Amino acid sequence: MKQSSFLLPTLRDVPADADIASHQLMLRAGMIKQLAAGVYSYLPLAKRVIHKVENIVHEEMSKAGSQQLTMPTLHPAELWQETGRWDKMGGELMRLKDRHNRSFALGPTHEEVITSIIRDFIQSYKQLPLNVYQIQTKFRDERRPRFGLLRGREFIMKDAYSFHSNEESLHEAYEKMYEAYSKTFTRVGLTFRPVIADSGAMGGKDTHEFMALAEVGEDTIAYSDSSDYAANIEMAAVQVKAPNDLPTHREELNKVETKDVKTIEDVSELLNVPASSIIKSLLTNVDGDWVLVLIRGDHELNEIKLKHQLNAKEIRLATNEEVLEVVKTPVGSIGPIGTSLKVVADHAIQYIVNGVCGANEEHKHYTGVHAERDIDVENYGDIRFIKEGEPSPDGKGKIRFAQGIEVGQVFKLGTFYSENMGATVLDENGKSKPIMMGCYGIGVSRTVAAIIEQHHDEKGITWPYEVAPFHIHLLALNMKNQEQADLGEHLYSLLSEKGYEVLFDDRKERAGVKFNDADLVGIPIRIAIGKKASEGIVELKIRHSGESVEVSVSDLVDYLA
Ligand code: ATP
Ligand code: MG
Ligand code: MG
Ligand code: MG
Repeated sequence: MKQSSFLLPTLRDVPADADIASHQLMLRAGMIKQLAAGVYSYLPLAKRVIHKVENIVHEEMSKAGSQQLTMPTLHPAELWQETGRWDKMGGELMRLKDRHNRSFALGPTHEEVITSIIRDFIQSYKQLPLNVYQIQTKFRDERRPRFGLLRGREFIMKDAYSFHSNEESLHEAYEKMYEAYSKTFTRVGLTFRPVIADSGAMGGKDTHEFMALAEVGEDTIAYSDSSDYAANIEMAAVQVKAPNDLPTHREELNKVETKDVKTIEDVSELLNVPASSIIKSLLTNVDGDWVLVLIRGDHELNEIKLKHQLNAKEIRLATNEEVLEVVKTPVGSIGPIGTSLKVVADHAIQYIVNGVCGANEEHKHYTGVHAERDIDVENYGDIRFIKEGEPSPDGKGKIRFAQGIEVGQVFKLGTFYSENMGATVLDENGKSKPIMMGCYGIGVSRTVAAIIEQHHDEKGITWPYEVAPFHIHLLALNMKNQEQADLGEHLYSLLSEKGYEVLFDDRKERAGVKFNDADLVGIPIRIAIGKKASEGIVELKIRHSGESVEVSVSDLVDYLA
């Protein structure tokens, strides 16, 4: 590829609205262009990387016995109503109507669609197991699309689904997929950890998330410093239940009706603090007393999900809109929490309060609660705060925390979808049974961003060879010099013939511009043709390590091999 005619719009300056490395670098290296919030075009350089990641995914899926298919993006509402997810998905489901006023969704995932296919075609246990996958654009109207490709509203996912007549078969497929994921993420150059995850409300059991380790990751992982134990903190730490037996003997505690507590103003009235200070406290005074607690959107009042015990300053609430949105949601219950928790918005909900907690009765709360005084926060009912340095659950090693980016997830779904949608098979005895299912996702576009998060330096990206957009960046430093230009052309054809993917910088730009762009774009091997072209000598530099050597043109091919 000749750079003079390649769409590679590099930017010198760091874009103002991008605050993490992968987002900044993808913009600066001319990889992506935003069209709307969380919606991006993948420019040619990004497309090449995506293609490589997809190829690895295809290979590993195929080796694991999964067959590729493609399902529609446009899903009729009726299908999603069969599982109740039309309502349950809430705002995240992108909805639209056709000209006949029929409702549709843009697929955020495909359990419903695949189950509708399988139920029509698979009748006997003899036709199982089956494993199918696709790589496709998904749509999710994320509450906060951000960080470029890490959390988009339109993104590329590989989603696989497996079908079984018994638990053992499901387990086998699960293990196989787990293996395939480990190979995939290793091949794309990620440092990652599979972690035990929370199976949530979907009736599933085993599930692991694959976490690419990165400071900017939105998930917290609790792992053992000397074994393989690792869990998403939301799993490792807690399932909090609102207390049944909060010490109501304390006179300071008042049970109050919170039915009409719906807005930040209501909260302010209930707590007798100015509305403005509620937001302010959340945003700035987080080291103090304010805690956000979330309960699932479907009003499972006892399932407060906490993510972490830590300094309140790490609470992730950044925008007024988000706080307002959270506070505006109808109140169910809030949990008894100490003053320093990190809780992450997941499904919609709750509000925030100092000294208020759920009374385990709908629309009732206690006020005047002092967490430390009134509640054994160390171990209250189902609350358990995991602590850095405590023994890991497997008894091997101590707990450490790290941040991770969820790049994939494997999930034993069980029979939630098949039961709700009537996907059954006849077993050996001619009895009808719901099919057991597993589902397995990889965020392809997110993976590309995660790779950059782990592979960059102050100058730009440092691609791992296997997913690099090109193998060699060939620079002719002065295209006006005929000798250099000719040598450039010669090496470009020679190296391409040898099977390397070469980006030839044949632009009429200054050497400094070319070097900077090369560092930014991060192709693993750089070959610069400069003044020594006349002696048949070029400079070869490894982007990752910065090592450089002078090589004579006649030795170049051997040297590269
Ligand atoms: P998250 O917890 O980050 O919201 P998820 O658990 O909702 O992700 P899954 O339903 O497990 O996501 O989807 C499978 C994979 O798709 C995820 O592991 C992730 O890599 C990717 N993915 C999910 N949401 C997004 C998004 N908004 N943008 C990019 N990739 C995403
Ligand atoms: Mg999500
Ligand atoms: Mg997740
Ligand atoms: Mg997930």
